[in-house]
Amino acid sequence: MRERLSVVIPVFNEEGNIRPVYEAVREEIAGLETDFEIIFVDDGSTDGSLPLLKELHTDDPHVRVIGFSRNFGHQSAVSAGIAAATGNAVICMDADLQHPPSMIPRMVEQWRAGYQVVYTIREDGADTGLLKRWFSSGFYRFINWISETPVIPGAADFRLMDRSVVDVLVAMPERSRFLRGMVGWLGFNQIGIRYQAASRHSGQSK
Ligand code: UDP
Ligand code: MG
Repeated sequence: MRERLSVVIPVFNEEGNIRPVYEAVREEIAGLETDFEIIFVDDGSTDGSLPLLKELHTDDPHVRVIGFSRNFGHQSAVSAGIAAATGNAVICMDADLQHPPSMIPRMVEQWRAGYQVVYTIREDGADTGLLKRWFSSGFYRFINWISETPVIPGAADFRLMDRSVVDVLVAMPERSRFLRGMVGWLGFNQIGIRYQAASRHSGQSK
């Protein structure tokens, strides 16, 4: 089967980030000599995000757009994108460029080497607020205390999954989804790679 990459990007009021993230992702994929699609899931944006996405789709058939009827939340948007993906590898990443598109080639390289999940581990940059750091580390300590499934601190929803993993994930009946826990629970051949957290390109954290 020919290699095909799906990039899934949830969008909630990201009009200032859509073009930059689209261009950065395209540029990274261009060097990989692979077939691809970029799936934007508009999670009920109220700014100019959806018209912008439709414009991208008109100009570039590699771009697909899913539009939600209202805001359902990040995990629902990512899940819908994964379910719609047709690639034999699926990469999920945020729209605000905090998940650096420059990591894509390294993720694909690990997948080509045989790993079925390539997850990423965020190393906090200097501009990550103390409060967010504190809540974040408290969250991971708590979830690992109550749960048997290990959840790796700093492992956000920025990862590559092979088709074999995606098929199982999509078949799981959980409605209220916590993807990073579910993917950890699934098993498969997993590897983590580290990246430096970037600051948000435009707009505010949702
Ligand atoms: N997002 C979404 N629905 C929401 C909130 C956020 O689809 O209800 C998207 C958002 O557009 C971004 C990603 O999820 O692409 C991560 O959101 P954000 O950057 O606000 O989270 P943070 O990086 O602050 O944890
Ligand atoms: Mg962000």
